[in-house]
Amino acid sequence: MTEDFKIDPWGASAIQEDDYARLIKEFGIEEITDVIRQKMIKNRFIRRKIIFGHRDLGLIYKAIEKGQPWAVMSGIKPSGPFHLGTATTALEIVEFQKMGGKAYYGVADIESWEDNGIPWEKAEDTAVDNIADILALGLDPSPKKAYIWRQSRESKVKDICFKVSRLVTQNMLNAIYGERTFGLYISSLIQVGDIILPQVIEGPQPTIVPVGIDQDPHLRLTRDLTRRNYKKLFLPGATYHYLLAGIDGSEKMAKRNPNSYFTFNEPLESIEKKVKGSLTGGRRNLKEQKQLGGEPQKCMVYKMLMYHFEEDDEKLAKDFEMCVKGELMCGDHKQECVEKVLNFIKNHRKKKEKLIDKARNLLKID
Ligand code: SF4
Repeated sequence: MTEDFKIDPWGASAIQEDDYARLIKEFGIEEITDVIRQKMIKNRFIRRKIIFGHRDLGLIYKAIEKGQPWAVMSGIKPSGPFHLGTATTALEIVEFQKMGGKAYYGVADIESWEDNGIPWEKAEDTAVDNIADILALGLDPSPKKAYIWRQSRESKVKDICFKVSRLVTQNMLNAIYGERTFGLYISSLIQVGDIILPQVIEGPQPTIVPVGIDQDPHLRLTRDLTRRNYKKLFLPGATYHYLLAGIDGSEKMAKRNPNSYFTFNEPLESIEKKVKGSLTGGRRNLKEQKQLGGEPQKCMVYKMLMYHFEEDDEKLAKDFEMCVKGELMCGDHKQECVEKVLNFIKNHRKKKEKLIDKARNLLKID
């Protein structure tokens, strides 16, 4: 990472292993300690150490202990179908909702215009598809437990954006994001509105925003503007997960490299082919694998299972151990992963089919 490196929340930066330690230090992100992990052990992403850092997560477990209200907030840019990256954040929301938080999920259609040039009306079908995905992943949409909105239709979000903008200068935004179009600057201020919205609607309460580390600039901006504009509100907290690299071994999942990821909507044959082509941490041949053991920490098969497709923690731990001891072979393990991914996708699609109308209603789209 170079001295003037800025994390790009709109996707141009690949974060390397070494960068995580530096970002944690540079931006004052707290690490997840064993004490916190134990307190939040129900959360699969914390338990499996996929979430490595946080801001103010302590306020959440204190609220849980005291039976006080708290919120979990995140969103999706409706620029394409769900994939492994968007599913990570969506599942984190579902996990936190199960722990008692009210879930707030914003459809970032203003951002999909500013970043990708997709008009709001054209983003509607994708938004419906995305919301049906998160419902199929287990989000409970009942009004007491969730609130879902579109940025372009939520006047409170826009009001917050206008209110906080009074204290924002171009220099501030340049320092956080580098030189960008005003559209992207505005969409970052709209995101401030999204993140503060739970407390504006329901009153002051701890809020946690599960994100990949690349979204931290939005959190820093939001906390700063909350501090200066909304003195009675809690500073929104965050959890940070490791970003999944490309499954083919490339630095990151990217649209221009279709083998680096798959979407939940693409043909099963294509998904199968991509998972079969994914990078393992295996050795050059069976003999070496047995002698030296594999490297699951570098293996995208292992990571896919850990993030999404293996329900059983004990099996994951056992497979890790067997791999490093040279007792698990990549061919067999990859085939197991292919079957789990395909089963997951087939079941997911069946559930989702029945949820499209529900998603449409939630988004108030005819
Ligand atoms: S045995 Fe499994 S976990 Fe180990 S490197 Fe091969 S595919 Fe990855």
